[in-house]
Amino acid sequence: MSDAIPFIDLQAQRGRIEKQIDSAIARVLAHGSYIMGPEVAELEHQLAEFAGVHHAVACSSGTDALLLPLMAWGIGPGDAVFVPAFTFVATAEAVALAGATPVFVDVLAGTFNMDPASLEKAIDAFAGKSITSEALAVEELRPKAIIPVDLFGQPADYDRIVPIAERHGLKLLADTAQGFGASLHGKRTGCFGHMAATSFFPAKPLGCYGDGGAIFTDSDDEAELLRSLLNHGQGRDRYQNVRIGINGRLDTLQAAILIEKLKIFEDEIAARGRIADRYSRSLREVARVPALIPGAASVWAQYTIRVPHRDALAARLKDRGIPTAIYYPTPLSRQEGYRHYPTVPGGTPVSDHLAAEVVSLPMHPYLQPAIQEKIIDAVSEAGA
Ligand SMILES: *Cc1c(COP(=O)(O)O)cnc(C)c1O
Repeated sequence: MSDAIPFIDLQAQRGRIEKQIDSAIARVLAHGSYIMGPEVAELEHQLAEFAGVHHAVACSSGTDALLLPLMAWGIGPGDAVFVPAFTFVATAEAVALAGATPVFVDVLAGTFNMDPASLEKAIDAFAGKSITSEALAVEELRPKAIIPVDLFGQPADYDRIVPIAERHGLKLLADTAQGFGASLHGKRTGCFGHMAATSFFPAKPLGCYGDGGAIFTDSDDEAELLRSLLNHGQGRDRYQNVRIGINGRLDTLQAAILIEKLKIFEDEIAARGRIADRYSRSLREVARVPALIPGAASVWAQYTIRVPHRDALAARLKDRGIPTAIYYPTPLSRQEGYRHYPTVPGGTPVSDHLAAEVVSLPMHPYLQPAIQEKIIDAVSEAGA
């Protein structure tokens, strides 16, 4: 199996920085501060600088990075939070965990990201109106927040979504779990919205060797509140608990690993961009390739195309030893655990359509030109 093509090649990256990572891990084992060791604060400092924000707060996962801001804002029962229907489950899960109600909004076919028109329609439908639903057991939903997602690595359309949030007085929490390292008009994700959440799950553009995440904010008060919440609602000293929190800390070992990976991240972002450009140039005749909004530079967490006979294409690629993945086969609004939550009037036809047409190709910074050629040839032949 040595010549099997990996979908994401984490071992190639490991080969590049093995010595540095091994000695970073050894340093943590030697000093023994496994929880909240010095590497956590060091990483937070570097992440904040990278994103161009005042504070990065490291935490245990991307899911907790979404939950903690909602807790900090006191969002809970009776509150509506607008999320795209076409995303990874954690975007809506965090809202439900906070006790609030996710309201599903449609996305745009070209970019896969939240459709600002569908968002406005959903806000108008729920603002000040009573909805009674047995499953929800609430009489009136109060619109409180929007969570746009930087899906597959491209920033959401913040130029259009920020004014909508402002007009309706809603909090904006950017889910940049897949988008950390991307930029819009030269500004890195992490700086868009009131707060932003990212994930260091191994397969994300910047991943650790386990679970991890971070929250970005410019507010000193919010950063302090987040640090308390992720540490059991800790007050000024460890045995003071001034609020309900969670155990949401990032391990020191993961912080030490991320510090080493951050050193080569810019270089990896550039490599991802070159690979995506080549895919787009070569495949635009045989498939619908991803569209970028003006000013956006994607970090290409996934390279996702649309074809009418997606399953047939995936099967033909598999026969040639080329792995693919389907992100996502079912919109969240149709998932068993989520379908009782409200959806924008008119539903989410674009999300439904995408779920049937998308297929993601191998994408990572170490994808060799010859392998990429093989993938492009196989897609072209299957599509022709
Ligand atoms: C991965 C992901 C998350 C959750 O991150 P975890 O670290 O796995 O908890 C949230 N939102 C999106 C869009 C993701 O892709």
